[in-house]
Amino acid sequence: MTDNEMVIVGAGEAGARAAAELRAQGFDGPITLIGDEPHLPYERPPLSKGQLCDVEEPAPAFILTKEKLDDLQIQLLSGDAASRIDRSRHIVQLASGREVPYTKLLLATGANPRRLTVQGNAAGELHYLRKFGDALAIRDRMKPGARVAVIGGGFIGLETAASATARECDVTLIEVGPRILMRGVPPQIAEMVEARHRQAGVRFAIGVMIERIDRDQDGYWVKLADGSFIGCDLIIAGIGAVPETTLAQDCGLAIENGIQVNEYLMTSDPDIYAAGDCCSFPHPMFDNRRIRLEAWRNAQDQGTQAAVNMLGVEPAPYAALPWFWSDQYDQTLQVAGLADGASTTIERDLNEAGKLFFHLAEDGRLLSVSGMGPAGAFSKEMRLAEMLAEKQARPDAALLADPSVKLKTLLREFD
Ligand code: FAD
Ligand code: NAP
Repeated sequence: MTDNEMVIVGAGEAGARAAAELRAQGFDGPITLIGDEPHLPYERPPLSKGQLCDVEEPAPAFILTKEKLDDLQIQLLSGDAASRIDRSRHIVQLASGREVPYTKLLLATGANPRRLTVQGNAAGELHYLRKFGDALAIRDRMKPGARVAVIGGGFIGLETAASATARECDVTLIEVGPRILMRGVPPQIAEMVEARHRQAGVRFAIGVMIERIDRDQDGYWVKLADGSFIGCDLIIAGIGAVPETTLAQDCGLAIENGIQVNEYLMTSDPDIYAAGDCCSFPHPMFDNRRIRLEAWRNAQDQGTQAAVNMLGVEPAPYAALPWFWSDQYDQTLQVAGLADGASTTIERDLNEAGKLFFHLAEDGRLLSVSGMGPAGAFSKEMRLAEMLAEKQARPDAALLADPSVKLKTLLREFD
């Protein structure tokens, strides 16, 4: 294995985990991690949460420190974007002109914020949040009393609205769809989230388009299609993410809602793999439906699995149950599995610990579990519910709804 050279493009969640896993698997050849950002690999989840609220200027939460990289003998080439892949020569070319040869290559290039196209003299002055520098720029402007308009009722929008409220800003959230959290979050939870935000003082404009964004001496003016205006000092847009596929596309790899990979995370070129937000893969638990996940745990797990598969010793398909979480105020919400094929939803009221929702297919199979509550107690119950979904169990609906029946007991039935 020592003659092989493992190269990873994208020094984010999936890329960093893959690099570390290659060593954990005993690979002792060269590993090169190429990142276009100037930082060591860092975690993104704190960017919209704690790091926007910190009184002192925050530092990135590093996934791999300099010491760890040295210890694992991982070469990090940071601040230098990969600009081209020459598949016939097995070379990655960097913006600096440097050429990096590879035996196996992993693309872990993530995603970029979708940009809002809108009229107006300030349409180009919106803030987006993906990178550490974006979080610092937003944090600097989130002064107590500032009027903040948040565009998009997805995760970026809602977490940023909660952080802005914690910074004592005056927040209005605008969502074009018929409700917040349309993608991947059941309506029952969206309602709970919206209620918590309203309780904290956030105002909502839902189901309405933005017509223009202008600026005058009093600040920004967001004009909505219903004729109303929102005056504000800071505008943050979180309207979705677009997978970063430029390199893959330019070198002729198959693309389908991201870089297309098979169940082994291998692209249409057997020497190139992809992992994380940038790729779509067939999921065996959901009839091999091709999906793309934009979530932290998926990026970690796929990075790890891709590393194992690149080594070719014991390759295994990627089949983890999708899972993500979001922290807003004192609440955490979590979703495990995919609820979109469900025909029935069963509610389990955990009282002080929140609520769980079980989403069942027509044949009674548990497809997804979601819920929300205060972090500690809720997370324990949610983990048990998630294990039920992992087992693709067909639990009795009446027992699921009854909080006096322990989930641990139900789980044992499916051992
Ligand atoms: P990234 O972490 O985005 O890493 C990709 C890296 O590749 C980036 O550094 C990018 O600059 C680099 N790159 C791209 N092209 C090139 C190139 N040509 N050359 C070199 N480098 C390149 N998920 C949750 O489940 N829960 C959360 O609470 C949560 N919070 C989040 C908060 C924020 C603000 C954001 C932005 C995301 C959050 N996520 C959360 C999602 C999670 O962070 C992502 O799913 C995860 O980071 C994806 O990992 P990745 O490695 O695929 O991509
Ligand atoms: P998102 O979750 O896809 O939500 C985007 C929201 O904006 C959707 O509700 C969308 O509605 C709405 N929208 C789209 N166009 C709009 C417009 N013109 N005006 C108003 N609203 C509009 O994406 P995101 O919140 O921007 O997050 C970006 C990335 O960060 C994603 O990868 C996300 O997973 C990640 N992230 C994750 C977390 C987490 O998991 N906790 C936290 C932060 C960020 P429609 O659905 O109707 O288009």
